[in-house]
Amino acid sequence: MGRINSDLRGGLINEIKGDGEGMGVLGDMAHSELKKGEGRGWLLGCSKKCDATNTGMSSIVFSLFSVALKFISYSLNFFRIIFNNNTPAPSYSPNKLRFIRGEKLLSDLSTWGIGGPCNHFVQIFDHHQLAAAIRYCHEQRMRYIVVGKGSNCLFDDLGFDGCVIQNSIVFLEKFEPGHYRAGSGYPVNRLGVQSVNEGFTGLEFAAGIPGTVGGAVYMNAGANDQIVKLIDVHLSIEKLSSNTNGLEILNTESRGCIAHPTALLSETAAAVESIEIVTTKGEYKTIKRSDLSFGYRSSPFQDMNDLAAITAVTFQLKASQSAKKRQQEYLKRRKITQPVAERSAGSVFRNPPGFSAAQLVERAGLKGFKVGGTMISEKHANFFVNSGGATSRDMLELIGLAKEAVYQRFGVRLKEEILYVHPYL
Ligand SMILES: Cc1cc2nc3c(=O)[nH]c(=O)nc-3n(C[C@H](O)[C@H](O)[C@H](O)COP(=O)(O)OP(=O)(O)OC[C@H]3O[C@@H](n4cnc5c(N)ncnc54)[C@H](O)[C@@H]3O)c2cc1C
Repeated sequence: MGRINSDLRGGLINEIKGDGEGMGVLGDMAHSELKKGEGRGWLLGCSKKCDATNTGMSSIVFSLFSVALKFISYSLNFFRIIFNNNTPAPSYSPNKLRFIRGEKLLSDLSTWGIGGPCNHFVQIFDHHQLAAAIRYCHEQRMRYIVVGKGSNCLFDDLGFDGCVIQNSIVFLEKFEPGHYRAGSGYPVNRLGVQSVNEGFTGLEFAAGIPGTVGGAVYMNAGANDQIVKLIDVHLSIEKLSSNTNGLEILNTESRGCIAHPTALLSETAAAVESIEIVTTKGEYKTIKRSDLSFGYRSSPFQDMNDLAAITAVTFQLKASQSAKKRQQEYLKRRKITQPVAERSAGSVFRNPPGFSAAQLVERAGLKGFKVGGTMISEKHANFFVNSGGATSRDMLELIGLAKEAVYQRFGVRLKEEILYVHPYL
């Protein structure tokens, strides 16, 4: 599993689509030639406008040939995933786990509703089952990925050539006041609401985040620190817009963010006391939060070679009278500013230091912009939604377009927050 792979994305989107009409380069988007709903027909990764005289017969034949080759290769891969020779039955039950073979669609496992079939699928309900599933995958030399609610994942249309382990370790234990131990499959949203209702602060930001506790730790999910930053960044962007050509990169002064005392309290890591994991060798370990270092949407688990999965998390929260009011305000703000009723994966891009990714995408004129079944939300420019029948190809193309447009316009390189799950790597 990996992040968005720029080579792959390049491979998918660096090809001419459509009939050439409206073809151009994203570099030209600064001159606002790009219109809503016209994502297709743009050639990425080209620094000059494509000259019609260069698109002679030979290049058309070459393009058709390469599209045909890609189609054949995708079809072969698709059938390879579905009809892998090695396993005879559609489902099987080693170690009392029920593995489903080739039938589970990843679109059903992700909030985006995108993704083809996975080769093997198993749902686990406790840490012993999780360890057994991982051991089994190792024995079978099968790739695997552990997912929670799939609310930060972009699965591929081709599916996943390996085993998807769905984490349903859903338990909650309470010790002393404010001391909670949650199974990694427990909904983080539920824990956020519950802990606040019981009079504790630390996880109020989690209300409205549709992931699991394990996914939230893995991603170091957070929220309302951004609200503070965005107010400041908004001012910076306003400065930018008053520039004569609108293309200047923000200067260092205007990039600065207010260091806010509550910022640290608005991410998962700040509330964690310890984390239980199972390693790739099937061993159980408990790691203290104080031995780990987290960053903005990053956790040491993202680079931990021997991590198989997070199984449980213990939180230490503080008593608070005001947490509930704060949470209600956050939720209200979410409803106003985010397309909560639509299929998304939350923010697609991380906020670059000193900037708001949403503001940059919006300022690049891309709100409402569509590619196939995907669209940049009119409500929040960092939320890309599945507006019906979206494919991973559409989404990767839209992401590539937005990145290029923002770079051409503001010189800022956006990095994905969402994680792309490659079908084979
Ligand atoms: C409407 C909406 C709003 C959102 N708002 C926010 C927000 O405000 N702030 C924010 O930070 N995010 C937000 N998100 C994104 C997402 O919900 C979070 O990143 C969430 O923490 C992901 O949890 P998950 O269980 O869905 O993880 P998944 O998407 O299933 O997985 C994400 C990654 O975590 C890994 N992972 C998951 N569980 C485990 C485990 N038990 N052990 C090891 N690795 C694991 C997966 O392998 C994958 O690499 C939002 C998403 C949506 C759809």
